[in-house]
Amino acid sequence: MRKKPIVAANWKMHKTRGEAKKFIDALKEKDWSGTEVLVAPPFTSILDAKKAAERSMIKVGAQNVSEHEEGAYTGEVSAKMLKDVGAEFVIIGHSERRRYFHEKHETVRNKIENALRHGLIPMLCIGETQEERENGTAHKVIERELVQTFKGLSEEKMGSLILAYEPVWAIGTGLTATPEIAQEAHLLCREILSEIFSDAYAKARPILYGGSVKAENAGKLLEKPDIDGFLVGGASLEVASFEKILQEARGG
Ligand code: PEP
Repeated sequence: MRKKPIVAANWKMHKTRGEAKKFIDALKEKDWSGTEVLVAPPFTSILDAKKAAERSMIKVGAQNVSEHEEGAYTGEVSAKMLKDVGAEFVIIGHSERRRYFHEKHETVRNKIENALRHGLIPMLCIGETQEERENGTAHKVIERELVQTFKGLSEEKMGSLILAYEPVWAIGTGLTATPEIAQEAHLLCREILSEIFSDAYAKARPILYGGSVKAENAGKLLEKPDIDGFLVGGASLEVASFEKILQEARGG
């Protein structure tokens, strides 16, 4: 049976508290049953987004979490704090974090463990760069990212994970992976998850595609059997464009 499509908004460093509330108020006016709607505002807007999302199906999460439990880590926000403001999930290892903040596999793994310890769903982002795609190493890179990240983690601990395949060359560039390229990568992710954990675990994991998703390409991508939804950046900033993707996700 097909999983319910998940459509997650990554607002990055956009939206003040008032803007976040306005967006969610507008979004929740419609009935989005048939899809799972997730929104990741910046830290400062999580609480307002969460309050606005009350009595709706919209889940609110964060875009990052500290790898530490607590302590002298100026500027960091812990998993416990995210849970405290009502976050339900957290994006981990986004390519912008890896690129600008030099996050390595070990850090990403610590963050996943921290999120799980505090009952947050980790949404792990992986994906190859343009150079890696062009020189034919994309599949090796995906495999390495998954194997390194999950080193020492057991299936029992990893229950709620959501995976997001986000080819770096497609993020914010307007270039989208073709449904065929995305499907091939998603299937590969599932095969690797099955080798690391188990077949049942791999089959049950939602694998989202991210990289310049918009209403125009969403439908075709979702036709592929291993694409379970989307992580959306740019097109999630306006209610209208995000709603169009949600409409596609629930079948037009
Ligand atoms: C993202 O940042 O996760 C993303 C997929 O961005 P965009 O949709 O803008 O490519």
